Amino acid sequence: MQPHVLVVEDEDALSELLSYNLKKEGFRVSLAADGEEAMMLVEERQPDVVVLDWMLPKISGIEVCRRLRSRHETRNLPIIMLTARGEEADRIRGLDTGADDYIVKPFLMKELFARVRAVLRRIRPGLAEDSVTVGDITIDRVAHRVVRSDLEIHLGPTEFRLLDYLMQHPGRVFSREQLLDAVWGSDVYVEARTVDVHIGRLRKALSAGGEHDPIRTVRSAGYALNAA
Ligand code: CA
Repeated sequence: MQPHVLVVEDEDALSELLSYNLKKEGFRVSLAADGEEAMMLVEERQPDVVVLDWMLPKISGIEVCRRLRSRHETRNLPIIMLTARGEEADRIRGLDTGADDYIVKPFLMKELFARVRAVLRRIRPGLAEDSVTVGDITIDRVAHRVVRSDLEIHLGPTEFRLLDYLMQHPGRVFSREQLLDAVWGSDVYVEARTVDVHIGRLRKALSAGGEHDPIRTVRSAGYALNAA
């Protein structure tokens, strides 16, 4: 699953540049041109990290940061502030308001990628890594490979994304609707039964070598990947 970055920036050229480069780097990107739009997008669908410009029309970046921090659902959402101001006082103010990190414009894309990965690693280990292992299953996001007990497992693209998502939260139970939203996207209409079909295929592939089924069905709740 690609980490989802919300970029909040009112300068179109920079916004486009960030979007292009972040996408090329493997992130999913949403854009907001002001603070109000940012709050709306976060409400609709919470990103994994917010890259937030300080100087924005309507609601300032600092105010957006403060609002996100004051809400229970977004209290721990990673926020990286972007600003043209480099003064120490502003930097401290940004961090005081709850930003996780701070980048002064102009900056190198490489620097931004490194900061984004660093906050993701801190807050959601596993999300920003190239490969994740749960029990005897390893998923390699760069090579797009899955290995179980030294045997390569062949998965279709949907099964791969499904497994990737489950492996980010071992042991946690997800409803069909949650899996649809995370793996297929909320803007796609797919029947909940479709999830069962792909879970079935994933199970079959993962157990092809005779190993036990690592996916637990929780009656009337959903599915979980066993943690051990
Ligand atoms: Ca700006």
